[in-house]
Amino acid sequence: MGDSPEALIFEQAPVPGSSVSETDTATVPITPVGEINRQPPAPPVGRAMTRLNGEFEDGAATSGCEDDFTTAGAVEPSAELWADESGSLALVGAGPGDPGLLTVRAWRLLRSADVVLYDSLTSAAIISSLEGTECIDVGKRTEPRTTQTEIHDLMVARAEQGDSVVRLKGGDPVVFGRGGEEAEYLAEHGVPFRVVPGVTSVVAAPELAGIPVTHREISSSFTVITGHEAAEKSDSHVDWDALAERVSGGETLIVLMGVKRLPDYVSRLRDRGVPERVPVAMIEKVTWDQQQTVTGTLGTIIDRAEESAVEPPATTVIGEVVSMRDRVPNINWADGTSRSPDNR
Ligand code: SAH
Repeated sequence: MGDSPEALIFEQAPVPGSSVSETDTATVPITPVGEINRQPPAPPVGRAMTRLNGEFEDGAATSGCEDDFTTAGAVEPSAELWADESGSLALVGAGPGDPGLLTVRAWRLLRSADVVLYDSLTSAAIISSLEGTECIDVGKRTEPRTTQTEIHDLMVARAEQGDSVVRLKGGDPVVFGRGGEEAEYLAEHGVPFRVVPGVTSVVAAPELAGIPVTHREISSSFTVITGHEAAEKSDSHVDWDALAERVSGGETLIVLMGVKRLPDYVSRLRDRGVPERVPVAMIEKVTWDQQQTVTGTLGTIIDRAEESAVEPPATTVIGEVVSMRDRVPNINWADGTSRSPDNR
């Protein structure tokens, strides 16, 4: 592998210099609008990305695949990719980080965009594969901070000047990602746009760690909340009694932005009688080189997370489905290899 150009394309580190916070896509402090951050060459690629090499290399595989789909009538012709050729925007989900988990449509839009406005949860692997395209980091936590309003203004300004703009957001654009607000703003300002769903970490993070969010014998539903809902004084929209009852009954609870608030939601559940033995997993930075999965129970997970120094972004799964990771113990669901000792 070494540092071949293909390797560079698929390195999975977060954007260098950006510090990922649990609220990155929620409150979006950003670099000055208009600052262009082309990515420096990425560090050497990790093992997990090896098999992706060439998948997008110089567009060969992609265009081949595009032809196949087009023949089958499943992909719109290039001319129809953009809502308006004379300036429009695509609100695109980037998935959890691995470029292989972009949708075909997302990839085609990225390759044909004039400018890409991306968040800090977008992987460097995706951005660095867009050589020659203007890419603006609107998710970095540096001073002076700009605001969501400034992102709105930048989206509108670039589309109005005739550019094809991709607004690229981690996971799915409307899952705790302010995609709804951005769509509303674009509509109010008469900017033509389309939305492209992305692979959300809600499902992908557990799944790639060997945990299905539902299972016929174990759990028939899953509930998704943010860790902020568990803050002591927050005006919570969550019915914790009902939630505790569901988790006690084996159903699945998924918490995003839930690293800092882990003690809050764990105690909310335990106070309501959810048994300590209920299994819990935290999947950090899924598909990135730094991915780790930490498992425990409602009684032990706080200590386990601390020991393993779990950091955002991480997805927490609470419920019996977590035991599936032990029922299929030897295979890394992400790539079919043996599950590595580093507990990916
Ligand atoms: N729109 C995103 C979620 C944004 S909220 C999506 O659909 O995935 C940000 C939270 O998503 C993080 O705090 C974390 O809980 C989760 N997350 C995002 N990327 C992740 C990753 N690569 N691995 C694990 N969790 C991730």
